[in-house]
Amino acid sequence: MGQLDEPAFARHLQACRGCGGTSFDVATYLDRHVEVMLGDANNDGKWVHDGEKFVDGVYRITCATCRVDAFSSDACPRCHAPGTLPATLAAPSHLEVPKRCPACSGMQLALIGFAPATVRTTGAKPPTPTPRALFGEPGFHVIAMACDDCDWAATAPGCPLCAGPGPLRPRP
Ligand SMILES: [Zn+2]
Ligand SMILES: [Zn+2]
Ligand SMILES: [Zn+2]
Repeated sequence: MGQLDEPAFARHLQACRGCGGTSFDVATYLDRHVEVMLGDANNDGKWVHDGEKFVDGVYRITCATCRVDAFSSDACPRCHAPGTLPATLAAPSHLEVPKRCPACSGMQLALIGFAPATVRTTGAKPPTPTPRALFGEPGFHVIAMACDDCDWAATAPGCPLCAGPGPLRPRP
């Protein structure tokens, strides 16, 4: 599991230890699906995570009122390598996306990437997260991609976020 499980996540959202507030900014790494044409994204993509993956990727919870951190970790949200998160947020994707499919020269690839996201929450059910980096921007990391026209596919070696050697822990 991630740095937090669901009960721990819920505990952090109960009341700020600084001001007692119950509204928090949650930062997490989430799965995003993007269609890419000749190396450029067709659009901003869409979220494909679920509630458990949302909690799994959380690396910071900050009180929306007084900005005290309820939870903060700079370990890799995917493989827990210590101290790698600042570099991950600033780095381009370790897995590069080719302009054309290397097998059939198709122009259209579909990919799943990790996008950093934030959400302001005031209760148990968080609203839709806002992506803080899109495909091609620093902090967005491609996990896997596949050709729309043939069966070519590629997956990031090791950890897609910090490029650590793995093995990767299971995700929920
Ligand atoms: Zn507070
Ligand atoms: Zn990692
Ligand atoms: Zn292909």
